[in-house]
Amino acid sequence: MDEEVVKKYLRAGEIAFRVKQNVITYFRAGLKLLELGSFIEGMIKDFGAQPAFPVNISINSIAAHKTPLPDEVVPQIMEGDVVKIDVGVHVDGYIADTAITLCIDDRFALLVDAAKEALEKSLSSIREGVRFSSIGGVIEETAKKYGLKSIRNLGGHSVGRYLIHAGDVIPNYNDITLFGKFRRGEAYAIEPFVSNGKGYVVELDEANIYALTKTKFKNLTSQELQLASYVMERFKTLPFCERWLLREINLPIDALRTVLNSLISKNIVKKYPILQEALSTAYVAQFEETVLISDDVLVITNPKF
Ligand code: MN
Ligand code: MN
Repeated sequence: MDEEVVKKYLRAGEIAFRVKQNVITYFRAGLKLLELGSFIEGMIKDFGAQPAFPVNISINSIAAHKTPLPDEVVPQIMEGDVVKIDVGVHVDGYIADTAITLCIDDRFALLVDAAKEALEKSLSSIREGVRFSSIGGVIEETAKKYGLKSIRNLGGHSVGRYLIHAGDVIPNYNDITLFGKFRRGEAYAIEPFVSNGKGYVVELDEANIYALTKTKFKNLTSQELQLASYVMERFKTLPFCERWLLREINLPIDALRTVLNSLISKNIVKKYPILQEALSTAYVAQFEETVLISDDVLVITNPKF
């Protein structure tokens, strides 16, 4: 991998790590999700980088893809909540993807420990040539040891420039149908999800996060073209959310949603549905770090590895 590219990955990773450290201090009961989201995304920019996707703040049975809406009467973080905070930082398109689970009390300490241990064991097993499925096995076995389940239809992924999911899947179970191996010069996000429910997620009808599926636009109304062009210029094909559009596009929220929905129906924009444990009363924990494979395995989002 080009030395300049490695530097950009390391910079993105270092910023993501500092953001996580500050979030741990800032986190408290009564915090509004919109406040927490603005705090995190503002900090990424203050550190001189950009969010690679809207911060995911997913509570309890929600596993991923929840981000605060601009007009939401947002719930606050409460005692007993299991809060996954998934942060993406990019420097010139090179992405660091990392997540932590935070709780006010220790009601779900074992669930959190299981996800953390699954990630730590995975990271110490990764090197060039190791099969993706064997990392999945480590995650699955760790969850099982705690009497819990890893979430089978969520997983880690290779990361590319301006691409969060660059093609390879690092499963959260020993998926023997996957023959892929870790390759030198590639970046991967490893992200075990552990639950006390059924061990898989379902898509809700609601979505808070979107991305462009096309980069050239034909047969659009002027408002559709304005929105699509703005997204292309600012976020390319990286995910975005209503909060990010509202700041820059001079439209009331309902009008913005109408334009966004028409772009979805024209297949210019796709939705990322909110993902929830199949057992809606279950709890989910997640930890994630991004690694670069060279002579060593560099965990760019956490210097302690
Ligand atoms: Mn992530
Ligand atoms: Mn990820």
